[in-house]
Amino acid sequence: MDTLLRTHSKLEFSRLLIHGFSVKAFNKIQEVKFGPNKSFLGCGRDDNGCVKVKASRSALLELVPETKKENLEVELPMFDPSKGTVVDLAVVGGGPAGLAVAQQVSQAGLSVCSIDPSPKLIWPNNYGVWVDEFEAMDLLDCLDTTWSGAVVYIDDRRTKHLDRPYGRVNRKQLKSKMLLKCISSGVKFHQAKVIKVIHVESKSLLICNDGATVEATVVLDATGFSRCLVQYDKPYNPGYQVAYGILAEVEEHPFDVEKMVFMDWRDSHLANCKDLRERNSRIPTFLYAMPFSSNKIFLEETSLVARPGVPMDDIKERMVARLRHLGIKVTSIEEDEHCVIPMGGPLPVLPQRVVGIGGTAGMVHPSTGYMVARTLAAAPIVADAIVRYLDPGRNLPGNKLSVEVWRDLWPIERRRQREFFCFGMDILLKLDLPATRRFFDAFFDLEPHYWHGFLSSRLFLPELITFGFSLFYHASNTSRLEIMAKGTLPLANMINNLVQDTE
Ligand SMILES: Cc1cc2nc3c(=O)[nH]c(=O)nc-3n(C[C@H](O)[C@H](O)[C@H](O)COP(=O)(O)OP(=O)(O)OC[C@H]3O[C@@H](n4cnc5c(N)ncnc54)[C@H](O)[C@@H]3O)c2cc1C
Repeated sequence: MDTLLRTHSKLEFSRLLIHGFSVKAFNKIQEVKFGPNKSFLGCGRDDNGCVKVKASRSALLELVPETKKENLEVELPMFDPSKGTVVDLAVVGGGPAGLAVAQQVSQAGLSVCSIDPSPKLIWPNNYGVWVDEFEAMDLLDCLDTTWSGAVVYIDDRRTKHLDRPYGRVNRKQLKSKMLLKCISSGVKFHQAKVIKVIHVESKSLLICNDGATVEATVVLDATGFSRCLVQYDKPYNPGYQVAYGILAEVEEHPFDVEKMVFMDWRDSHLANCKDLRERNSRIPTFLYAMPFSSNKIFLEETSLVARPGVPMDDIKERMVARLRHLGIKVTSIEEDEHCVIPMGGPLPVLPQRVVGIGGTAGMVHPSTGYMVARTLAAAPIVADAIVRYLDPGRNLPGNKLSVEVWRDLWPIERRRQREFFCFGMDILLKLDLPATRRFFDAFFDLEPHYWHGFLSSRLFLPELITFGFSLFYHASNTSRLEIMAKGTLPLANMINNLVQDTE
């Protein structure tokens, strides 16, 4: 039965990628597969001395608790659709992106309705950010743990020490803070899923799955990677970051609790596992780890980007082999995380009547998968644009207003920046493990201004070109040849796209 489910879900996985179905649908399939597994086989080694990782994976998954769905203790003022009120802004999706805009538009005195099927639910994802990104937004109180720096293990011999503090977002605190601001500035909430939008001249009608209709002058789609309302007119062909993470109690672990592990590319744990080693050599995965104490740690085996995405089963096998090699014995798992992030691919149609922010609006960093800090920083831009263009003095019709908001979210310099990041992704997609190591060896040798700026979307095209040359200068001769061989076609594509995209 277990095998059946596994085969079935692998087929489903490829089908989902081919047909571009939603990530949520994929996660659902994974849930079927990774529910409490009673077929525990015990651990051991096969004839080659390789850990029987499939068996040990089952053992690890035995410890995974049922998904916790914790709600915030807060009273939400509810929207009453029966009154037929037309709100200035309806925000579909109450993730970080949606709440940030709802809060800021309502603070400017406009009426806002936030629609989400679970408006009080604490966000499930374990977010990590660079501390300076949150400091710039006055959000340091929303980090529950910080590390003075980070470590990158290139291989068994080379380690990079990154002098840049990193933090874990306290998602309960961040959501509470945003919700309370929304409540105090007058946002109303509607608990439902939007299934359809109908536009008429001066307003849009949002049809919800509870039968209610919410009418709004402006509709903001903030539904993350489910891309509920925003339209795309090009084939959706992103790369996928796939990761499996656990927040675990362990007997011990080998990491310094003062530093988080940004990337561990070592593969000595696969020395005796020919099959896994070959897979990892072709499409490498790394460990991302947040050590909270000597026996509490978040561990996440991550495929940076691949097309199609690395199957979750494969990621789990690699993780189990790694933990075993590192001598990490998991005693209990507080929560686990199945992470599938579409990266790169086309932007939505620009402009279009529905405006967007966050995952739905192509804002994830195409070379890294990071987005939270960038989205929160972009929220005031979207909010200001909505407030400015809704000004009664301007009296802009719906379509015109959306044109202006999209222009402020994706000005030409941001579109060029994203094009460069997609170029980065296209190169990463082609690198095997040795080439990936050489790439990051050079990347983290760059001046901090460059690698900080690249990871935090702070560099724009002129500086990105200097960044590119600088990376080339720091790279080994082998790496230069690789970048030239594998980067020529993506470079030509990027130049072509840049030339075609004008104001
Ligand atoms: C597991 C995981 C870990 C991640 N970790 C990081 C990280 O460490 N750092 C980082 O920078 N980024 C990270 N990301 C990437 C990105 O920052 C997150 O996905 C982030 O949550 C996106 O925010 P969002 O507000 O756009 O969408 P979401 O947080 O996905 O919120 C979307 C909301 O819309 C609601 N919704 C969906 N459909 C409808 C509908 N039809 N009607 C009404 N509501 C709807 C959903 O219920 C949800 O509440 C991670 C992503 C994942 C999946």
